[in-house]
Amino acid sequence: MAQMNFCSYCGAELKTTVIDAKERRMCSREGCPYVFWDNPTPVVAALVEYHGELVLARNKSWPEGMFGLITGFLEKGETPEQAVVREVKEELSLDAAGVDFIGVYTFEQMNQLIVAYHVVAGMGAITLGDELAEVKVLPPEQVEPWDFGTGLAVRDWLNRNRMSRF
Ligand SMILES: [Zn+2]
Repeated sequence: MAQMNFCSYCGAELKTTVIDAKERRMCSREGCPYVFWDNPTPVVAALVEYHGELVLARNKSWPEGMFGLITGFLEKGETPEQAVVREVKEELSLDAAGVDFIGVYTFEQMNQLIVAYHVVAGMGAITLGDELAEVKVLPPEQVEPWDFGTGLAVRDWLNRNRMSRF
């Protein structure tokens, strides 16, 4: 995980201190209150529905065969809905015709908080953005949710929709 060595306020070295029964990195300079809390970073994720099928994407930095959702960080001032629509446009070149909230998930290994949406994409062809190596488009019944990170949002969405749609 993230390792911070210097104070963001004054530049002095951080030291390990126990605060509220947890080890924290805190400024070593007398009187400086800086603590590196290492709070989770919010990330938006899109489960994209395209012509009734679901889009899974492989990031360029991921190994062959590993697929996930479209994800990204929020820009300053954006709502999560705006961020997820922008990411789908940037990464797949698709416009969102509908956006539904799925849920919020803790991704402890990445120290992220995932805000997941089901995004129904409009017409138009998929063109991959800079971050993606490839995508696969599968009927929902062929999608196997993975049990960490964005996979939990896939699982919940499939469970909720199995009755009504498939
Ligand atoms: Zn300091």
